[in-house]
Amino acid sequence: YKNYMKLEFESKSQNEAFARVVVAAFASQLDPTIEEISDIKTAVSEAVTNAIIHGYENTMGMVRVICTITNNELEVIIEDDGNGIEDVKKAMEPLYTSKPELERSGMGFTVMETFMDNVNVYSEAGKGTRIEMVK
Ligand code: ATP
Ligand code: MG
Repeated sequence: YKNYMKLEFESKSQNEAFARVVVAAFASQLDPTIEEISDIKTAVSEAVTNAIIHGYENTMGMVRVICTITNNELEVIIEDDGNGIEDVKKAMEPLYTSKPELERSGMGFTVMETFMDNVNVYSEAGKGTRIEMVK
């Protein structure tokens, strides 16, 4: 690899914008287009929001963002130690949300998959969730 960074912050909603800007700044060394930076920010925003809202539903916990640059590729990993997802396949279906009452649209994973080249989700109920994305 060529470069690596790890960021850890509390699951507060104001840290969503913080994480998005940090990843964009780190990614800028790859000389991305404006569109690529925008795609990365959008995907990070969705994954971090999920960690805060779903992972740590009514509690506070730590969210980790790990970025690795390899040649001309950025890998972004977003991890929480929260609730986890029982059925990842179902959770990733477009329009599926466990919180329809909170005006969630169930499009977060679909957005991540649309704006990144590759998205993998690893999760265990009660343990936490890890999203690996590549662009
Ligand atoms: P939207 O992102 O459109 O506001 P949403 O967050 O419900 O709505 P997705 O982001 O696609 O939709 O996530 C689908 C579902 O997967 C969520 O409703 C939630 O049940 C579950 N989920 C996603 N991320 C996590 C996470 N980090 N921890 C626990 N559950 C999660
Ligand atoms: Mg979401």
